[in-house]
Amino acid sequence: MATAVLALQGAFVEHEAHLAELGERSFELRDADDLSRPFDRLVLPGGESTVQGRLLEERDMLEPLRKRIADGMPVLATCAGLILLAQRLAAHDDKGTPRLSTMDVTVERNAYGRQLGSFRTAARVAGVGQNVPMTFIRAPRVVEVGAGVQVLARIDGSVVAVRQGSQLGLSFHPELDRDLRLHQLFLSL
Ligand code: GLN
Repeated sequence: MATAVLALQGAFVEHEAHLAELGERSFELRDADDLSRPFDRLVLPGGESTVQGRLLEERDMLEPLRKRIADGMPVLATCAGLILLAQRLAAHDDKGTPRLSTMDVTVERNAYGRQLGSFRTAARVAGVGQNVPMTFIRAPRVVEVGAGVQVLARIDGSVVAVRQGSQLGLSFHPELDRDLRLHQLFLSL
């Protein structure tokens, strides 16, 4: 089988490169026709969640993907992807833009302000290890997690990595660093 990488907009090529390095086949999901190709995993890349959400709806991809994720298909969602997965957005962020809404978390968009919009750090990720590099670009923060959601990492008290069943949500961009451990975790789900 293969991993489908949502390729409507944003940083999808870098995910494909990481997957290839780990020996995983991938292909790009651009419209509803691509959904008929066989795949058993999904990557939702960073970018602009409002644009991606609108395109998912316009191209009739939102419902089919939502159903497959709800049925347990593993997902790796980074940054804008995490916003698409979240069931709830912070009140000031919620403009009713279409989203997948399969993960029981509340997310605040662009949560680190303009000055700190982009930064790099490293931290421990539960089940992955120490010193995992983390690149944040106008990143969201998880402000509330439901009972079935496991917090995998925090930076200065903010939740930046979560897992609910086979859904893995990251505020940051592991595809922009050389470290492959988070993609490895995704492929093990
Ligand atoms: N700020 C973007 C959004 O709200 C996410 C940024 C990213 O994916 N790097 O969708």
